[in-house]
Order: sequence, then C-alpha cells, then structure tokens
Amino acid sequence: MEIEIATLGGYEEVGRQMTAVRAGEDIVIFDMGLNLSKVLIHDNVETESMHSLDLIDMGAIPDDRVMSELEGDVQAIVPTHGHLDHIAGIPKLAHRYDAPIVGSPYTIELVKQQIADEGKFQVDNDLVKMKAGGTMAIGDSEQVEMEFVNVTHSIIDAINPVLHTPEGAVVYGLDKRLDHTPVIGDPIDMDRFREIGRQDEGVLCYIEDCTNAGRKGRTPSESYAKKHVEDTLTSMEDYSGGIVATTFSSHIARVKTLVEYAREIGRQPVLLGRSMEKYSGTAERLDFVDFQGDVGMYGHRKSVDRAFKRIMKEGKGNFLPIVTGHQGEPRAMLTRMGRGETPYEIENGDKVVFSASIIPEPTNEGQRYQSEQLLRMQGARLYDDIHVSGHLREEGHYEMLDALQPQHLIPAHQTLKGRSPYVDLATSQGYKLGRDVHVTQNGSVIQLAE
Ligand SMILES: [Zn+2]
Repeated sequence: MEIEIATLGGYEEVGRQMTAVRAGEDIVIFDMGLNLSKVLIHDNVETESMHSLDLIDMGAIPDDRVMSELEGDVQAIVPTHGHLDHIAGIPKLAHRYDAPIVGSPYTIELVKQQIADEGKFQVDNDLVKMKAGGTMAIGDSEQVEMEFVNVTHSIIDAINPVLHTPEGAVVYGLDKRLDHTPVIGDPIDMDRFREIGRQDEGVLCYIEDCTNAGRKGRTPSESYAKKHVEDTLTSMEDYSGGIVATTFSSHIARVKTLVEYAREIGRQPVLLGRSMEKYSGTAERLDFVDFQGDVGMYGHRKSVDRAFKRIMKEGKGNFLPIVTGHQGEPRAMLTRMGRGETPYEIENGDKVVFSASIIPEPTNEGQRYQSEQLLRMQGARLYDDIHVSGHLREEGHYEMLDALQPQHLIPAHQTLKGRSPYVDLATSQGYKLGRDVHVTQNGSVIQLAE
C-alpha cells in the first residue's frame, strides 16, 4: 500500500499545525491549526470574517493547496487536542473536505465553539467524538484503522492518533509530555505505545513534537507544578491584601490546582475573563472537573466589573481572582488590571502569581515586560514561572523512540532550527538524516511506502 505524508503546517514555525497521511486511497488529516502570533501582530484583525486565502497569505493558517497532489479521499480530520494551534484553522479549512471531524469529547466541544464563532464559512462537517482507546475504520478497504492513544499535555483529553496500515503504524505524536501522575485524567498510555511498537508490522513512521527537543532531562509531571502552587500560595496565607493568579485558561488541571489552594488559604476563587469561563465551563459541563462549591466564572465585561466591585466591597483578602493575561496580552484581564482599567485596585504589597512561563517570542516577551512594569508601578510583588511545560524533553524523546522503534521519523512542531536538536538526538540512536529522518518544510510530500 502506498503511504505518503504531506507536511502542511507547523514545519517552519510553532503554530498552524497540519499533517496529512495517505494510506492507499484514504487520507486522514491531523490537526488544522492557527498561528495566533501572525494574527496578533496586526492591529484589530478580526479573523472570524476573513477569507482562508488571506489567512494563508498571512501565514496564519496552513496552506493546504498541496492536498490536491494526494490521490485519495479525505476520510477524517483529526484534531489531537483543543489548543488553537491545532484546531483554530478548522473553521477556515474543514468545509473544503467532505469528511467528519473526529476528536476526543473535550476537543470536539471546543471545535464546536470555534465553528459557532466563524463568520465567513458554513462548516457542516459531522463532529464525531471518540475517546482515548477508541478505534475506527478508515475508508472501505478494511485495511486501515485509526486508534486514539491517551497522552498527557497542558490541556485535558489530549490523544495521539495512530493510523494502522498494512505497511505499519503511522503515529502522530503531537503534543505531549510523559506524565505518570497527572492532576486530571489518566497517565500517558506508554503500555499501548510499547505494544504498537512490538506489533508484527511495527511502526512505519513517527511524527514527533519537537517543541522542547533541545532541553535536557525530563519534563516534570503536572503534580510537580501543583506542589509549586501549593508552596507559593500557602506562603501567603497570612497576607490579608490582594492576591491575583494568572495561567493558561485552557489549562484546566492548573486552574483546578489554583482553585484548590485558594480555598486552602481561605479565599474564594473567582475565574475572570471570557476564555477562563469558556474552557473551565466546558470542562465542568463535560464532567472532566468538579470545582465543587462556589467558583464564580465571569466572562462578559459587565459581569466581570460587577464581580470586581463585589471583591473590592467585601475585601480583597477574601478572594483569589484567577485571570487571563500571563503573556501580557494587551486586551487580557491582568493587563487591564495593571493599567487600572478594572474596579480592582492593586496596592503596595499585593501579590501576582504567574502560573505560566513566557512563550519565548519577542512579542510576548515585550508585552509581558510592559504588563509586569505596570503591575510593579502599583506596588505588586511578582511570582513567576510557577509552571511545567506540556511538551517532552530529551528523555521523553528517548523513551518514545525506545517504545515505538519507528522506521522513519518526521520532526514537527518547530522551526528548522528548533528541530535540529531532535535530529541530533535521533542520529545518536542510529537514525540518519535524509535516510530515515525527514526534515521537511510546509507544503512537502514524503513517500514512505510504494
Ligand atoms: Zn498543545
């Protein structure tokens, strides 16, 4: 059976991930993401009403025109998890394919919201929920099957899809870390990866998340971040002024930890900001998390302002607002608080906890710097890097290679430079660049089996 892999997006950047695998007559697309930094660099760009081709020209969504070179039918579009660099291209591109969108329940729920917000295209693709461990037939050949393997990442309900073909398995490895003690959900299913690696046909190809490939050692578990949050917040137990925390709104495990330790130190947690309400509200509705008791969630400007006024009236010492803005995004809640645009008044000695690290990019670094200066000017004390990454480092890569024993490797989810440490690592394990390690760019097609 002919196997071809088209690397469409995320092979020249971190963002707009998209890869297509053709097995015989059947094609499966993995991820359809958005590179948000290409959008935010322009003032006031509203992507909802924009045309796909303009977004492709901006470098914001994958250029999928190379798909016409693949001879087969797209049978499924498979987002691996709900991060925007994996799903936010769907409203702009999915309608061009007569195929269902298949994802884990939480991911599909977020895709649904993306589609509802779309203002230009009518996206009518069926939405199919499949849990980790589930399998589905691809096409009519009865020779290709897709399986979801449970993985751990900085968003709940992440999976790695595996396409089983007569030539071996194609494992799409974006995004994950190897977490054996996650705060929400099951540990990473390494047993299943090892089984797949030992099957008769073995693993034909492994497409790997190289985000942190250049970092030594192992990415710590989410429970490590939980300990760090505990240590930080309990150290503030006797402080009676304002404490504010910020983290990734999609990082439900971290939000849960912040909620827990807010209560532990006698404060009522309040989630503020549109995306905080969206991700946490969806997770609670789907029973991924039970925040228990009273967690206020406020998304709209007016209800946020009301919540802030209540906090100021009843005393900042009774609350712990959990807000957006950890990257210093100009319109996010924490930045607005820093600018004094909300009724919440930051006073000398108040604490601001960044349960996130800066995404290393000049725009973020500059914006975060500004936001921090605004907070400091009001006397805030800052706590940063109370965080662990969602992406595996060197040891995780060694472990995955050992489990899967893949014939071919395609490093992904990084710039050319960002993938080079992974090429070195693979080379040290007996792989060879150009022979079985394929470093590609957006818009390339690699033939693996004829
Ligand atoms: Zn991700």
